[in-house]
Amino acid sequence: MNNLKKEVIEYAKKLNSSNLSPLRSGNISIRADQNGKKGFLITPSGIKYDQLNEENIVFLELDESLNNDKISKNDLNPSSEWRFHQDIYIKKKDAYAIVHAHSPHATAVSAHGKNIPAFHYMIALAGGDDIKCSEYATFGTKELSENMLTALEKRKACLMSNHGQVAFGKNLEEAFELAQEVENICHQYINTLKIGKPKILSFEEMNKILEKTKSYKKN
Ligand SMILES: [Zn+2]
Repeated sequence: MNNLKKEVIEYAKKLNSSNLSPLRSGNISIRADQNGKKGFLITPSGIKYDQLNEENIVFLELDESLNNDKISKNDLNPSSEWRFHQDIYIKKKDAYAIVHAHSPHATAVSAHGKNIPAFHYMIALAGGDDIKCSEYATFGTKELSENMLTALEKRKACLMSNHGQVAFGKNLEEAFELAQEVENICHQYINTLKIGKPKILSFEEMNKILEKTKSYKKN
């Protein structure tokens, strides 16, 4: 458990140092068990990431009846965005770690509320032939979780309208790297749009890429 908390702290600090999420924006979580209960560890609310220590990292049980009243009664202080982390862990069995960021370029693209088409084959890293943008809902709400889960259907990352992005993976390293890829893709997409309407790769070509990325291993 303590090692997992250390990992959450390490990646929360990386959120700042990598410019994925400046200041306190963005949050990190990882699946964990405590006293035989399944749940996840998440970064806290209102503490700068460079001041984090292990007791600040909050364990929340995977419990659909959990709400902010129960959380404050139990004196817990998870990120105000804990709900979509929980809902992703409940619905996405292949999600073991989640990185949520208000990274500058992903946030800029998200403000248009549109999916990113296959202007580049790296779009496939998110799991399909586009990166979807979930519909807007107020942060921390069940509605936002539901909108995100729709955008995450057959995907490991999505934009969140007028908000930012989320990525998950089989561990924090993978989730973090995917969030960085999404940020990079959004930066490229903004530049692409500056010189006109891009050519979009065909469905057939993207299917080929998706087959290739399934067997893709890092060198
Ligand atoms: Zn956020």
